[in-house]
Amino acid sequence: MLRGDGRLSHDCDPRDHAPKDACGVFGVWASGEEVSTLTYYGLYALQHRGQESAGIAASDGSRILVYKDMGLVAQVFDESVLGTLRGHIAIGHCRYSTTGSSVWENAQPTLSSTDAGGLALAHNGNLINTAELAKRLPPGAIRATTDTEVLTALLAAGEGRSVEDAAVDLLPQVKGAYSLVFMDERTLYAARDPQGIRPLVLGRLESGWAVASETAALDIVGAAIVREIEPGELIIIDERGVRTRRFAPADPKGCLFEYVYLARPDTTISGRSVHATRVEVGRRLAREHPVEADLVIPTPESGTPAAIGYAQESGIPYGQGLVKNSYVGRTFIQPSQTIRQRGIRLKLNPLREVIEGKRLIVVDDSIVRGNTQRAIVRMLREAGAAEVHVRISSPPVTWPCFYGIDFATRAELIAGSLSVEEICASLGADSLGYISLDGLISATTLPVDRLCRACFDGSYPIPVDGATVGKFLLEDVQEAAL
Ligand code: SF4
Repeated sequence: MLRGDGRLSHDCDPRDHAPKDACGVFGVWASGEEVSTLTYYGLYALQHRGQESAGIAASDGSRILVYKDMGLVAQVFDESVLGTLRGHIAIGHCRYSTTGSSVWENAQPTLSSTDAGGLALAHNGNLINTAELAKRLPPGAIRATTDTEVLTALLAAGEGRSVEDAAVDLLPQVKGAYSLVFMDERTLYAARDPQGIRPLVLGRLESGWAVASETAALDIVGAAIVREIEPGELIIIDERGVRTRRFAPADPKGCLFEYVYLARPDTTISGRSVHATRVEVGRRLAREHPVEADLVIPTPESGTPAAIGYAQESGIPYGQGLVKNSYVGRTFIQPSQTIRQRGIRLKLNPLREVIEGKRLIVVDDSIVRGNTQRAIVRMLREAGAAEVHVRISSPPVTWPCFYGIDFATRAELIAGSLSVEEICASLGADSLGYISLDGLISATTLPVDRLCRACFDGSYPIPVDGATVGKFLLEDVQEAAL
């Protein structure tokens, strides 16, 4: 499946299961604005974070309406649908499933009723104590099979308390990654887990406020970036403005993979541009893994910033050696097993006159199973490359993520079982070099203890009980109850 921004080269081969984000969230409180249209634009900017379903909830102060469906943001919404979602508060969500199947019932925002009215909620991240939380609900209390549905039901069951007080009570008991936007008829809320694993930022509109997974979504709706929502912080936005409550001490452990490629390059995290970080990773990659060559080329678009950095640092010219067809979308008919190696050319085609006779350095952001890189190496050799040296701007991914990124399983990850030398041989490359974990961390300019890096080194910042996590956890529980 191709990402909305067409970045992931792994998607060139359907056998390569690229890492998937756990969703994008957006919220807006603004009087006199078309809030559902602003939310639509915000979700459009966040499409790369989830492409399975999209939804928007809006309130005019008296009732909440939700519209959601399977598909991309532009497929789910049109002007007539947006025209029905009126009011001054809206939240939106685009989903990739990390807990629960990819079905309509699991699309977000969720909607539940409280003593005082309605509650709609959208979630980016993945909880790790869903099973324990679900036990607090009476049988049949939820229809969907997501951690988000459990969270919504518990929040709505606040018996006589305001949504704000219920959130301050409940959120310290929720473990894992959650960047939330939620709303009742009159108030917009945003909250981030104490580790702040997934991003969440606050922006200022002329007539109100916006909250988004990434700063790029604020840019697109014309909101000025105010600040990141703090880990362990709940923000409350209504006609009186913005208030803040702390529900847990901050213990920041931001996801290192956001820098590698989850976030858009035009997003900033902790005040630093993601693009600048990726270029710096490329520079460090050149210092860590130098090689004599004639040309540095990226695997478009995922490897571009790091390839620029590699070229800058090494002094080797940068060029475009592969052309990507950006219009091969998710409806693309996948080639059969026998023609896959050729089928990749539907998405990537070498520029023979650029690469013929050259010693090439090919820069990409990660290797999942290696199928795509193997096909690219072969394609470049067939087009006349004299040498092909592969450079990767992330360390080998060898551990699963429990906080909202769906990697291939460990057995499927090529680095889970092969050494760098063996992977190089498997790709058919002349050499292979990954950025070191220290090099990647240094490029972010953040101290190591403020980052989650578990998928690279196995040190999980929130302890995980492997027996009680899993994408189909709640489906398994429901089936067992039948
Ligand atoms: S395990 Fe990896 S992908 Fe998951 S939150 Fe940590 S750094 Fe990010």
